[in-house]
Amino acid sequence: MGLRILVTGGAGFIGSHYVRTLLGKNENIRLTVLDRLTATGDLANLDSVRGDDRLAFVHGDVCDPALVNALVAQHDEVVHFAAESHAGHPIPDAAEFVRTNVSGTQVLLDAALRTGLRTFVHVSTYEVYGSAEDGPWPETQPLAPCSPYAATRAAGDLLALSYHRTYGLDVRVSRCSSTYGHHQSPHKPIPLIVSNLLRGAGVPLYGGDPSVRDWLHIDDHVQGIELVRVAGRPGEVYNIGGGTELTLGELTGLLLEACGAGVSARWDAEEFFGGQAGRARHCSVDWTKIRTELGYRPAKDIETGLAETVAWYRENRGRWTPPRRSPALDATREPQPARVLTAAA
Ligand code: NAD
Repeated sequence: MGLRILVTGGAGFIGSHYVRTLLGKNENIRLTVLDRLTATGDLANLDSVRGDDRLAFVHGDVCDPALVNALVAQHDEVVHFAAESHAGHPIPDAAEFVRTNVSGTQVLLDAALRTGLRTFVHVSTYEVYGSAEDGPWPETQPLAPCSPYAATRAAGDLLALSYHRTYGLDVRVSRCSSTYGHHQSPHKPIPLIVSNLLRGAGVPLYGGDPSVRDWLHIDDHVQGIELVRVAGRPGEVYNIGGGTELTLGELTGLLLEACGAGVSARWDAEEFFGGQAGRARHCSVDWTKIRTELGYRPAKDIETGLAETVAWYRENRGRWTPPRRSPALDATREPQPARVLTAAA
C-alpha cells in the first residue's frame, strides 16, 4: 500500500487541485478527502478523478472528533485545507470561523497526536500578518491579522505550531498569497468578475479599491505545499508567494484583457466584497525561505495564468450559471451527516 494522505477541504478550490495533481503524478498513493461541502466546496471539483480507486471521499466535518479520529488513524499524513474562507460582505458571523478554523484544527491536531501521525501540513494564509506597509513580511514577522477570518487562521497556525513545540508533532505551516485559477467557487472575486464579464454584466467592484494583493497561480501554490510536505522541516513556517502585486482594479483590467474582444466592463456600485472593514491595505510576503531551502519557483506568469483561468470559466459555464451571489447572501447549504461515498481499497 502506498502513502495514505488525508486531505481536508479537498472539494474546495486549492484542495481539489492538490488532489488532482497528486493523483496525476503519483501512482503509489492513497488519498481521502474529508469535506463538509459548505458554500465554497463542490464535489464537481473532483469529477475528473471520480472513480479513481486511489481516492475516497468522506462527507463530514473536521469538528467531528469521532469521525476525525477514525480517519486520521487510517492515514500517514494530513494536509489540512479545510477552512471557513468566506471573508467578504457582509462580514460573516465570526463563530463559524472560530468553529472550523480553530476548533476543527484542534480536533485534527489531537487526532494526529493520538494516532502518531507522521506529518501534518497546515495550509494557512499570508493574511495572518495583516497589512504589510513596510513589507514584504518574512515568516518571523509578528502576526497582526486585520479581520476575524484572518485572526482565526492565525490562531490555527499558532495552535498547530504549539503541538510541535509541546508534543514534538511534525507540523509544517504554509502561508500563501491570494490564489487564482480554475475550479474556484463562483462566490469568490476572480470567478465573479470573470463570469460577470463573460455575461456582459457589471463588474462587482466597489470603486477604486486601493488595497494590494500578491497573486499566486494555483499550480504554484500546490507546488509550494507539496515541497513543504515532502521536504519542509518540522515546526517551520514557509511563505509561498506569487511575485505579482496588484490592486483589485489592476487585476480587473488584466481580466478584461484576458476576456478579449467583445467584452466590456460596466463598473457596478454593488458591494459584493465589502467595504474596507477588515481588509488589509497591502498583503505581501517574502518567500526567500522556501526558495532557498526547498527550491520553490513560481512558474506561471499572471497573463498566462489569467488567460487560462478565463478560458476555463468560458468552457465551463455550467459551473457559474445561474449567477451566484456572496455565500453570506445565499442560503448556505446545510451539511449532511457524515457518510462515505466511495472507499479506497
Ligand atoms: P475553499 O473555500 O475553496 O475550500 C475550503 C473547503 O473546506 C471547502 O471545500 C469546504 O467545503 C471545506 N470545509 C469548510 N469547513 C469545513 C469543515 N468544518 N469540515 C470539513 N470541510 C470543511 O478555500 P480554498 O481557497 O481552497 O482555501 C483552502 C485553504 O487555503 C484555506 O485554508 C485557505 O485559508 C488557504 N488559502 C487560500 C487562499 C486563496 O486565495 N484562496 C490563499 C491563501 C491561503
